[in-house]
Amino acid sequence: MSTSGEPSVRDLLIFNRNWPVTKRPLPWLLYTLATMIAMVALVWHATATSTVQGSHFVIFGILAAFVVVQTEVSRKIERQRRILSTGPHMNMTSVWTLPAALLLPPQVTAVLVLLVYVYLGRRTWSGIRPGSPHLLLANATNVILSCCGAFAVAHALPASFSETATIAAGVTTSFVLNGLLTGIGLRLGASPKPDLKTCVGSLDDNILELATLCLGGLLVAVMPHEPLLALTVLFPVHMLHRAVLVKQLEELATTDQKTKLLNAVSWQEAAEREVSRAAREHSEFGALMIDLDFFKKVNDTYGHLAGDDVLKSVAALVKGQTRAHDLAGRFGGEEFVVLLANSSKRESVATAERIRELVGQLVVHTHTNDGSPVVIDTLTASIGVASFPVDGKTLDEALAAADAAVYAAKRSGRNRVVASPDLATMTEAPPLQAAA
Ligand code: GH3
Ligand code: MG
Ligand code: MG
Repeated sequence: MSTSGEPSVRDLLIFNRNWPVTKRPLPWLLYTLATMIAMVALVWHATATSTVQGSHFVIFGILAAFVVVQTEVSRKIERQRRILSTGPHMNMTSVWTLPAALLLPPQVTAVLVLLVYVYLGRRTWSGIRPGSPHLLLANATNVILSCCGAFAVAHALPASFSETATIAAGVTTSFVLNGLLTGIGLRLGASPKPDLKTCVGSLDDNILELATLCLGGLLVAVMPHEPLLALTVLFPVHMLHRAVLVKQLEELATTDQKTKLLNAVSWQEAAEREVSRAAREHSEFGALMIDLDFFKKVNDTYGHLAGDDVLKSVAALVKGQTRAHDLAGRFGGEEFVVLLANSSKRESVATAERIRELVGQLVVHTHTNDGSPVVIDTLTASIGVASFPVDGKTLDEALAAADAAVYAAKRSGRNRVVASPDLATMTEAPPLQAAA
């Protein structure tokens, strides 16, 4: 059994093989097999119904040459991007596969897609995720199916449709189909099940995929008339690769990888900007220090991995209770800090109280170090609240005031919100027990 209790492929094997594919969940394998069968059937059908002409070989040859040149030129960047990427990875090969889908019969497109994945797998992704052949094959299958869909839609349009409309239909079909097929695979393949955003990818990821497809769309218009002009696409593709890597590195430098909140340094920098703005505009803001109660006991009882899952759940809760212009960060181990922009002390205490109550209701499904499932639902937090500028005229002073308020909350029994310096605003809390 996998740690989530879901059967994995290995559970069904009568012989014991340590192949990576045997660790995948069974629903993922069934889904992937179904997509592969559909792909083979479609390519088979295309082979029986469409003929390959000489011009197709020329376009295939040019696209294959571009794949090799671009892979070699962007190899280091793509490797770094792949290492850093956590959700669905946009490998930007649709710039070559979309023209194949719209200009070539599906069976030739399938050969090109396989060539792309074999070449990238050996040259660029070897030794890094997802270097495993079964994942490369699953991804290539999704791309071939998306290409078949784009081909079918583009060829189903009446001849009166303009070339632009046909390309737009191909781009849209490929984008939607590939997103759908990959998203379902990600959801079925991961344990615990990732949320919708992880499966669908971020807005930036999707804009990147669309930008790549649009460049592919330009190639569709250019290649049949001026094949050499297609060379100009290599430069924007390379620059897109670089720009995306810079963004990934920037995100890595500012984000706490465990909780995906701002890390302490970037929180401090952003908060200093908010202090300057608030001072200039004579406005106020609230600072919350959130410290989980008896968190060490969670680690001691269930293990550090379970503790990590608790931290992730609390971070998601905190983020969900703040607005887009607030700053939620991880300050230290089990301490979070929130800056509530343009908020009075009363509003800040209300938000802190809401967070405290929701932490108390939090139910975290996780597992111990030996893989046994556990449910942790006895969490509590102590929260200190300070307000700028009344409790501190600088960020450090406001944070020190919030920190002192957390200590007051701990001293007076935990699971409560204390506003600095007025201990009279302490909220009533039920009698507290250790987390376990
Ligand atoms: P209190 O109510 O007084 O805050 O008690 P506490 O146990 O929460 O506080 P203490 O400072 O004694 O322990 C904090 C614990 O947080 C100890 C440390 O192992 C744990 N911790 C810090 N960072 C991480 C992390 O990234 N993951 C996990 N799982 N635990 C962490
Ligand atoms: Mg602490
Ligand atoms: Mg603590």
